[in-house]
Amino acid sequence: MRILISGAGIGGLTAALALQQLGHDVDVYEAAPELKPVGAGLWLAPNGQQVLERINPALLEQAVAAGFETDEAFIMTTSGQVLSRINAKAFQDRYPRNRTLAIKRSELHQILEQALKPGTLHLGHRLARYSNNSESVTAFFNNGVQAQADLLVGADGIHSVVRHQLFGTIPLRYSGQTCWRGLSPIKLEGDWKHKAAEIWADAPGLRAGFSHVSPETVYFYVTNLSPSGQSRDTDAEKQALLEKLQSFPSVVQDLIEATPAEQLIRSDLWDLPPLKTYGQGRVILLGDAAHATTPNLGQGANQAMESALALANSLATHPELHAALKRYEQCRIPKATSVVKASWQINQLVNLRNPLARKARNFAIRHAPRSLAQRQFEMLYKLSV
Ligand SMILES: Cc1cc2nc3c(=O)[nH]c(=O)nc-3n(C[C@H](O)[C@H](O)[C@H](O)COP(=O)(O)OP(=O)(O)OC[C@H]3O[C@@H](n4cnc5c(N)ncnc54)[C@H](O)[C@@H]3O)c2cc1C
Repeated sequence: MRILISGAGIGGLTAALALQQLGHDVDVYEAAPELKPVGAGLWLAPNGQQVLERINPALLEQAVAAGFETDEAFIMTTSGQVLSRINAKAFQDRYPRNRTLAIKRSELHQILEQALKPGTLHLGHRLARYSNNSESVTAFFNNGVQAQADLLVGADGIHSVVRHQLFGTIPLRYSGQTCWRGLSPIKLEGDWKHKAAEIWADAPGLRAGFSHVSPETVYFYVTNLSPSGQSRDTDAEKQALLEKLQSFPSVVQDLIEATPAEQLIRSDLWDLPPLKTYGQGRVILLGDAAHATTPNLGQGANQAMESALALANSLATHPELHAALKRYEQCRIPKATSVVKASWQINQLVNLRNPLARKARNFAIRHAPRSLAQRQFEMLYKLSV
């Protein structure tokens, strides 16, 4: 089958690899003139790692070699109270090879891109629209190029042009939070070293998270309650961040101090309210275009990768295209929807404005049965492909 993918993010690249593995003729069209992965680092959970492994075990090996494995993920308060703790050992029986892997986005992109067949990727091609009929789909790009195929995959991110043509304008939901991310040239010491940490302040929306992505580099993020679309002043922002984070353990200040102001990435955090369907005719959505989520569970890219494998599996098991796309939706919509919803709920908890409500929240999280968190992570890590 001839397949066009619009968007060379983690979703589009993973889909291209999974589909090429099955012998499909795939082209990926990317709007950007060069691949510049934004976002600093990423947590690749056991589900994302399983996807890589199923496409080609060498991909997982390369990711493990490029990344940094964490033993434990925990959330604590700025006053040092641990609210929740998930140890990688808890999942060792089921996913013996997959501890959570923190990795630079640039590394993951490179691994995926380099595994594509030569000539697959076409940079500088921004999809403007498509036409879709019973025989084929034609993609029209801003540079005047047209391409025809049996299937168009819209992997063009949260502001997807493909989704817009399919379903019209669907308002995104603003989380209330702006996020700053960066890669800090620091070595964490002692207890912090093999952990993925998130620290919550006693203030709405304010938290910081970090972990090593390589022995010399730490990925970190900070979120804060803030209106969307604020103008930027990088130097002032770094100073303001440091002041805001004064109640945090000094390691958080160190991470920001060591990061050049112009390398701090700022983004407002949005999600897409869950869709009931991901496509129509010969057009299907994948990744953030279909199920963009707030990053509270660290699952957006992992879900994009699951969708990529699910699409390839569906086409492999269902020779008739429409039946295959139906199966893909049946596989993916329930899980992706539950991730978006659960992550949104956490977002609301992080944003609580009332100090008493925050105290009650912390108490409830601290006393929640461990088995509950364990079940939630097992749900996340079990592939729906
Ligand atoms: C702060 C933060 C932290 C996160 N942390 C994690 C994490 O730890 N783990 C995790 O799994 N996920 C995480 N995510 C989510 C993750 O980044 C996204 O879910 C993931 O990158 C989505 O990949 P994608 O390929 O679907 O979309 P994108 O990465 O958005 O890629 C879309 C691509 O399409 C291209 N494009 C757009 N429009 C067009 C067009 N018209 N024509 C052609 N190309 C086009 C874009 O240039 C881009 O390259 C985080 C997100 C944020 C904001």
